[in-house]
Amino acid sequence: MANGTVQLVCPHCGGLNRVPEARLGEGPRCGHCHQTLFEGRPMALSEAGFRRHLRHDGLPLLVDFWASWCGPCHAMAPEFEAAARMLEPRMRLAKVSTEEAPALAAEFGISSIPTLALFAGGQEVARQSGAMPASRIVAWANRAADQAAAPAAGRAGRA
Ligand code: ZN
Repeated sequence: MANGTVQLVCPHCGGLNRVPEARLGEGPRCGHCHQTLFEGRPMALSEAGFRRHLRHDGLPLLVDFWASWCGPCHAMAPEFEAAARMLEPRMRLAKVSTEEAPALAAEFGISSIPTLALFAGGQEVARQSGAMPASRIVAWANRAADQAAAPAAGRAGRA
């Protein structure tokens, strides 16, 4: 695992990058546009951007489904931003507006907002509705990512 690489989608240009896992925390930059691959804050993703990340990015993706008219969403925004500083580069954090990406909200059955959903390996692995403080977001996301990674680690260990 220590010698593995992970594919990252650049949040700026959408370019694909391969980064050694051991160097994820060293502020890697995009080989295409040379901007930082981790910003320390959530990415705002369109439907197309979300699908590109889900398909091509090797890190777990924690998505905040929100809407501009939702008071609790605005209350949680700074908490989610703080959580990004603590959870990167273990996972990526993104915001998806249910107003700008209604097809995604429908596809994933987002019935209340804010809803946090963690995607790993291209699939949703955990979901939590309702505003949370940063500490709870971090604890919940780490636990969910641990659980999602456990079977894969087991398979790699036997291979
Ligand atoms: Zn780029």
